[in-house]
Amino acid sequence: METTRRRPQHSANGKRSEQKEQLAQWGRAWEVDWFSLISVIGLLCFAPFIVFYFVMACDQYECSITQPVLDLYQGEATLLSIWARAPSFSWSAAKIYAIWVSFQVFLYMCFPDITHKFIPGYVGGVQEGARTPAGLINKYEINGLQCWLITHALWFANAHYFHWFSPTIIFDNWIPLLWCTNILGYAVSTFAFIKAHLFPTNAEDCKFTGNIFYNYMMGIEFNPRIGKWFDFKLFFNGRPGIVAWTLINLSYMAKQQELYGYITNSMILVNVLQAIYVLDFFWNEAWYLKTIDICHDHFGWYLGWGDCVWLPYLYTLQGLYLVYHPVQLSDAHALAVLLLGLVGYYIFRSTNHQKDLFRRTEGSCSIWGRKPTWIECTYRSADGGMHRSKLLTSGFWGVARHFNYTGDLMGSLAYCASCGFGHILPYFYIVYMTILLVHRCVRDEHRCSSKYGKDWKRYTDAVPSRLIPGVF
Ligand code: NDP
Repeated sequence: METTRRRPQHSANGKRSEQKEQLAQWGRAWEVDWFSLISVIGLLCFAPFIVFYFVMACDQYECSITQPVLDLYQGEATLLSIWARAPSFSWSAAKIYAIWVSFQVFLYMCFPDITHKFIPGYVGGVQEGARTPAGLINKYEINGLQCWLITHALWFANAHYFHWFSPTIIFDNWIPLLWCTNILGYAVSTFAFIKAHLFPTNAEDCKFTGNIFYNYMMGIEFNPRIGKWFDFKLFFNGRPGIVAWTLINLSYMAKQQELYGYITNSMILVNVLQAIYVLDFFWNEAWYLKTIDICHDHFGWYLGWGDCVWLPYLYTLQGLYLVYHPVQLSDAHALAVLLLGLVGYYIFRSTNHQKDLFRRTEGSCSIWGRKPTWIECTYRSADGGMHRSKLLTSGFWGVARHFNYTGDLMGSLAYCASCGFGHILPYFYIVYMTILLVHRCVRDEHRCSSKYGKDWKRYTDAVPSRLIPGVF
């Protein structure tokens, strides 16, 4: 693995153990409390059934999430009868999925980025990640935008010219594909777990809690890799997960056209708003290296299974719902949803951009037309090295400590509101995102507080709100 090791600075007064104590919580937990353990076991047991429940509710109950429960309660269905009606694993779906994943591996590994050479303003090619708790800085090949463009160009070429397969192929195999994604999700998480024990990429960045369930779910290795460039986190989050997101939506759109002979404005809204989000992700993939997923989370079931199964199935529920319920929104409703989505996106992107610009220029930039203000911080890495950092306190970062999450939540609400108010199933996304991002606020702040100590306290005094000024 290509890494840069920073020179360790040994403490002059022999305070190594004190430093270790202070560092203990930078990165995910070393020890597991009962609440975390119960949550982890609960998620490991129930998360696959939650995904199955939503997909099955659409397939068998026209996307009603209460009807299956009522049917079970009234004895009109049994768990076995619901299970028996769900399409089973099929070899043709397995073939499609194997080709899909292999193709994404091929694009990721065999095509170093060239788009940054001719797309002005795009940062691609070899980029550095953030410093790991052990003090390493990994290098990454950023070629997600290129992979997305090639994949989508081929998708459109097939739909309009080659006709190798139907554009509804994803929808038509949706439940058989669910078994395949689960197989990959569990396989990759199990492999990462075994690899961390037997041949970790960087042993100093591994974390063992002594609890097998927690280790399996939250991961042991920080940045597992195969060879020099195959990075598990970057690949699994971006490629089978996020590249697929827009293709899945396109497949839903094609299915609506096939079934009803028209495409609703709600389907177009969902496709457009989510495509902006996905394209934004790939345009800013180098920035993604500095987000919590890469800088903090270890690679386990949470990321491995989550990227393979949870993300493609539950982030695309709105499009799936619209295949079963082709909602045509009034112009006023559609406009309101579009505005909410675009304003949310603007806040999300500008907030992330302000932090990125501020950190890249070390404060020598202009934010909202003024010189930024910040709090100077210091922290130590596990190798004993002392480092400096800055926490921005102006622009959106002066409004609330996680205003990027607020923008994200507004965008998420817009996806849901695109589906009208007929059912609650498409609103699952905003409920989930609220839980995810509030939980993220808490764990990120716990981490930052451990990392920066009293400097973090000075920051929270300067910017007291987390998501909504004056409220939370
Ligand atoms: P952030 O991009 O907000 O990163 C948090 C880190 O930024 C902190 O750990 C700290 O790291 C640094 N930081 C915190 N405050 C400041 C400050 N005032 N000035 C400078 N640096 C600061 O969080 P995420 O990585 O969670 O999210 C990135 C984006 O991705 C968000 O917009 C979020 O909405 C989105 N997201 C989307 C998800 C989805 O499923 N759709 C899931 C998760 C995130 P350091 O150690 O460097 O100081």
